[in-house]
Amino acid sequence: MAECDHCGSDVVHVWKHRRATDTMTYRTTEWLCSGCHPEMGEVFAGGHC
Ligand SMILES: [Zn+2]
Repeated sequence: MAECDHCGSDVVHVWKHRRATDTMTYRTTEWLCSGCHPEMGEVFAGGHC
């Protein structure tokens, strides 16, 4: 099991997502579930958030 960094749900799988901040020097890496990931969210319907 994995935990989504955005919604905190325990999901089967999370996808790595890099979010660039304002400065571009800072980058945060998030692990998002299919419902929260901006790209995966459209592919997998039935979000939980
Ligand atoms: Zn999520």
